[in-house]
Amino acid sequence: MGGNEGTAPKRAALILAAERRCAERGLRLTRLRREVLEILLERGGPVKAYDLLEAMRDSGRPIPPATAYRTLGFLLEQGLVHRVNALNAYVACTGEHAGRRLFLLVCSVCRRTEEIDDPELYHSMLRRLNELGFSLAGGSVEVQGICPCCAPG
Ligand SMILES: [Zn+2]
Ligand SMILES: [Zn+2]
Repeated sequence: MGGNEGTAPKRAALILAAERRCAERGLRLTRLRREVLEILLERGGPVKAYDLLEAMRDSGRPIPPATAYRTLGFLLEQGLVHRVNALNAYVACTGEHAGRRLFLLVCSVCRRTEEIDDPELYHSMLRRLNELGFSLAGGSVEVQGICPCCAPG
């Protein structure tokens, strides 16, 4: 799928945008928050908390799990990271949907994700759910399937 793979300049731009977004809200992208976001961006796909802890350890800055979850929680709140429930993992936001909710396509073969920001689709789904009296839980709507790269030829 490759939607999350960014080049180094693209990653740097996303970090800058994240810093700006935090500053606009009177918040700070601290060194730790930035490092965690960088790791997620570098991985270019969903990362489990365990792998994040390992990456921090490898980079010589080990952190306790509680700190990792707190940091991920901050990044989630700011919309800089999305949680992928299907994989019990986290993925850096690479889109420009600015807080709008989105669909997250999850490939069950390569475990990559792709953001689909389609407000029209989202709202028609929401309308239908409303009619059914069903309220949507927070976060993105995950669609599990097989991406074009993994689809049998
Ligand atoms: Zn996003
Ligand atoms: Zn795939």
